[in-house]
Amino acid sequence: MAEMYVLSCDDDNDGCGHSVFLDKFFVANIRGTAEDATLNFACPDCGNTQGYVLSEEDKREGVGPQTRLVLITLKCEETHCESGAKVYTQASEKTDEPKKPLSEWKVQGVTCLAGHLVKVPPERLRSKIILGRQ
Ligand SMILES: [Zn+2]
Ligand SMILES: [Zn+2]
Repeated sequence: MAEMYVLSCDDDNDGCGHSVFLDKFFVANIRGTAEDATLNFACPDCGNTQGYVLSEEDKREGVGPQTRLVLITLKCEETHCESGAKVYTQASEKTDEPKKPLSEWKVQGVTCLAGHLVKVPPERLRSKIILGRQ
């Protein structure tokens, strides 16, 4: 059985409680060697965007297929900063766009790699499809 990470949208913090499952190898890939790296994820149901620090406690055995994901890099408030904030989310079934449109994301508090807050409403710098297991 595969081990997966569970990301739950925080319903104590404007979220909806929706859960998404991510393959542990996928999580290891995006984290690299930084065990405490934050993974930004936009909830495909309510658009609430949170930073997750995933630990062993977030792992579950064989909970299902990994969600097909898209990586959106958001612009920050600094005009000349190109770092961007990487945010993962579930892709729509028919296109490579997010299931929850970017215009409906709640990104307050999300920062770029240089530590600046991202623009509200969110603006895309670039995007990339991540082919999860089907
Ligand atoms: Zn949610
Ligand atoms: Zn920035």
